[in-house]
Amino acid sequence: MQTNFTIQQLSDPAIAHSEAILRKCVHCGFCTATCPTYQTLGDELDSPRGRIYLIKDMLENNRAASEKTVKHIDRCLSCLSCMTTCPSGVHYMHLVDHARVHIEKTCKRPILDRVYRDLLAFILPHPKRFRVALYLAGIAKPFGKLLSVIPALEPMQAMLRLAPEKIPGATKITRPGTKQATGEKRARVAVVSGCAQSVLDPDINSATIQLLTRFGVEVVVPEIETCCGSLVHHMGREKQSHQFAIQNINAWMKEIDGEGLDAIIISASGCGTTIKDYGHMLRNSGDYAKAAATVSNLTRDITEFLYALELPKIQKKHEETIAYHSACSMQHGQKITDIPKTLLRRAGFVVNEIPEGHLCCGSAGIYNILQAKIADKLKARKISNINLVKPDIVATGNIGCITQIASDLDLPVMHTVELLNWAYGGEKPSKIK
Ligand code: SF4
Ligand code: SF4
Repeated sequence: MQTNFTIQQLSDPAIAHSEAILRKCVHCGFCTATCPTYQTLGDELDSPRGRIYLIKDMLENNRAASEKTVKHIDRCLSCLSCMTTCPSGVHYMHLVDHARVHIEKTCKRPILDRVYRDLLAFILPHPKRFRVALYLAGIAKPFGKLLSVIPALEPMQAMLRLAPEKIPGATKITRPGTKQATGEKRARVAVVSGCAQSVLDPDINSATIQLLTRFGVEVVVPEIETCCGSLVHHMGREKQSHQFAIQNINAWMKEIDGEGLDAIIISASGCGTTIKDYGHMLRNSGDYAKAAATVSNLTRDITEFLYALELPKIQKKHEETIAYHSACSMQHGQKITDIPKTLLRRAGFVVNEIPEGHLCCGSAGIYNILQAKIADKLKARKISNINLVKPDIVATGNIGCITQIASDLDLPVMHTVELLNWAYGGEKPSKIK
């Protein structure tokens, strides 16, 4: 694609990077075939190619984001399915991230939109605040349907629908500190607790730590780590996301420079995609650029790390059939496709592929709150595809997908690592009756 940026514009590293991305796009439109919003809405401006044109126009002309551009960029799930499909290697993720920063800086959103965004950014990345909010949502949940009469309150209604009936208590094993390896120590890792995950489903972190220590891995849960920053990053709040990233980098570098780390383990693939991108996010941040790259290079999804540990094959077969849902951040963001299924099969489970597996379930961070109608359509499509393979359990690697799918599916939906922990000597997950 031909671009028309001035020399002065190109002296901005963010513009220079986006220009290089834009030049790779050859307008072929292959990406439209796998874009969930284009498939759902049928509007070229809700396709990757359409959005790329809107971003190019906005950046080239250095103009404030128009209402039209904001609308179509907001509707993008950042699922990155387009990156998997694109034959030209267009790095859509970095382009849309840049566009969102530009939108945040140049566009004054309607008041209610700002209130929702501020509220979500204030609550979700902070486990204590999130726990209180979930408690209040639990009280308000029965009245959620009443909100549907006022369209402007749709995000509130979506929040209440997604809030769990019960808030699980924290588990002892996931508290900060060092968890000793059983037997001979094979490695030392930091496990990232995550913000929403640690509140919504502490069993995931618990299973991660139990499984790793059982296979000879010493685990450290650092005291001062925080949200990975992806939630605010996807809102275009660059400064805030960098603050989160820097706090985490400080916590992990302390371990790396101390007793050393073989890996930083993430069990939420959405967070994993962001942390693996810290090196890029902070590339122009002076002293932090090198540390951010170090952290990104050490970051592994839990399934990647378990695969490298070569867990033994289990001969006994489980009765339960698994439908594996590959989160977008897992398959498109981190390009991890077969590993989780291979691990589950080696652990004795029958694993079925879900038709249209490349399509997002509609979760996408806070998308299912701010774009609830589109998210609901994608969820319904995902659930009908899951039902086609008649599973007993749905396994996936991202807390957002678990919450989204479980909110409308009457089957246990759980993290892959919970099933692996069970298969390798841990307790049966409480979600399985
Ligand atoms: S990230 Fe997903 S929703 Fe956004 S343009 Fe790409 S395929 Fe479409
Ligand atoms: S598939 Fe790639 S090159 Fe083709 S239009 Fe989409 S982003 Fe551009």
